[in-house]
Amino acid sequence: MSQPVITRFAPSPTGHLHIGGARTALFCWALARRAEREGSGGSGGGGGRFVLRIEDTDQARSSEDASRGILEDLAWLGIDWDDGPEFEANGKTLGGDPRGVGPFRQALRLDTYNRFFDQLLDRGLAYAAFDTPEELAAMRETAKSEKRTFRYTKPEKYDAGAARERMQSEPHVLRLAMPTDPIVVHDEILGEITFTQEHFDDFVIRKNDGFPTYHFAVVIDDELMGVTHVVRGQEHLNNTSKHVGLQSLLKHHDGRPFRVPSYAHVPLISNPDGSKMSKRDKDKAARAAAKDARLTASPIAGLSDDALAKWMKDKKAQLDTGPLSALAEHLAVDLPAIEVADFEAAGYLPGVVCNFIALLGWNPGVKDAEGKDLERFDMEYLAERFAFDRAGTSASKFDREKLLAFNADTIQHELDDDAFAALWRTWLERFEPWVLETLGDRFERAARATRPRARTLRDAIEPIRFALIDDDQIVYDDKAVQKGLKKGEPSGLALLERFAPQLSAIEPFEPETIESAVKAFAESQEVGLGKIAAPLRVALTGTSVSPPLGETLGLLGREICIERVARTIGEHTQTSA
Ligand code: GLU
Repeated sequence: MSQPVITRFAPSPTGHLHIGGARTALFCWALARRAEREGSGGSGGGGGRFVLRIEDTDQARSSEDASRGILEDLAWLGIDWDDGPEFEANGKTLGGDPRGVGPFRQALRLDTYNRFFDQLLDRGLAYAAFDTPEELAAMRETAKSEKRTFRYTKPEKYDAGAARERMQSEPHVLRLAMPTDPIVVHDEILGEITFTQEHFDDFVIRKNDGFPTYHFAVVIDDELMGVTHVVRGQEHLNNTSKHVGLQSLLKHHDGRPFRVPSYAHVPLISNPDGSKMSKRDKDKAARAAAKDARLTASPIAGLSDDALAKWMKDKKAQLDTGPLSALAEHLAVDLPAIEVADFEAAGYLPGVVCNFIALLGWNPGVKDAEGKDLERFDMEYLAERFAFDRAGTSASKFDREKLLAFNADTIQHELDDDAFAALWRTWLERFEPWVLETLGDRFERAARATRPRARTLRDAIEPIRFALIDDDQIVYDDKAVQKGLKKGEPSGLALLERFAPQLSAIEPFEPETIESAVKAFAESQEVGLGKIAAPLRVALTGTSVSPPLGETLGLLGREICIERVARTIGEHTQTSA
């Protein structure tokens, strides 16, 4: 029986879950789920578990809201965790602590960290350092002037006894006496990487607020939580030497050494132009719009003119989410979706997002029926096949067009009307409840009419927007009026006038009967269907595009159709007179 595969996702709750974090979580999840399936299949596998741990040791930057947001985002994506904070989603409780390895918030684990700090101090492997920020800055300056990289190492004359005394009353950090032997990391994606002494220094393991640093907490928790596979972004690669250094020194209290887990560092996600995909891209989009609008005074409460001016000048500056969204709304600019919550609000389906992000660094290596690389798959498929032997090493480009195409394909070709209606209703309840209220009992009908035209749950509103506005809000598109009402002999307007009385006679007023009535009318007039369809569309929607006529009229209902046709005839007869 082989060992279980235990993976973990360890977000710092300092903001929303970024799409890159979601991809890391997905890979961790898939690795564990694959092992879990193999374990339960009787093939001798040891099973799999996926742990979620909240790394909130940076007290100033962590927040409860961000923690909850991350759990919500993961649950929305369908990335469920076995061990971790408990969370109710879709009638299921995610997380819990059946193995007794929690708590899963690092801020609640200080006693555990302290035991290991004591161990390292007692064994002379960690030491207190009392340097002030000014002293540290001076050391950095000296290193700079001597053209060497600053690395902190234990002072030659270090009096451990005196230091223990001073620790009682003076602010201090704890530093690791880092071993000097080369450290070799076997990375499942990048291969073997050797770190040598010039990369090492005696890094801080406990901050002066008593909290562990990320490096220390991550090593303790991965060990105590039984993590066998660490999967994370490549930005952590250099940290791994610190972690392996710590693992080589730490022992359990019964003397067992710490294990070195297997590591896999996944490449960055980049924009199509190669730049790193980050929250800054939102600032970039808003800044460009603010410059176009030549903003000088801040239109946003809570954002001063000065702060606005600074932000407009400094390409690297970032605004908080609140003011940034308010500014974007004011400037009517769409900010690019970067965080998971943005994709949800933009109307993407979670399964599609997971499918798409899985391809950022992995592919199944299988051809589809047409001989092309298979790209569309669900979570189950991923959970059965995911492994790092097919993972890429270079940055993956985030192709928004492709994501949109995946989403459109799913809505238009994979979902049926009922499934789409259920998803769209839930989405509208949360993001655009007025649409549901306005549609009332016409909702199912609207969902059927829009599904073949919708690419996202948000843009599904557009094809049926004509049914959400009052009759007098219709704006007639000039081109549509010219082509649909004015041109031809007889003109569209003339045909519309002849057709108008029939609206009262169609029984029942349903898509099929409406379609047949329009067809019969066209035949009776000896014109093509388009000749009457075009003026009807202009009358009912102001434009030349709408769902099929039966659905368009059926969705509006007889009275509104009569009203809008009469208004169109009235207005356009007058203007052409
Ligand atoms: N808290 C770290 C982060 O959010 C976790 C890194 C790791 O997976 O070790 O980047």
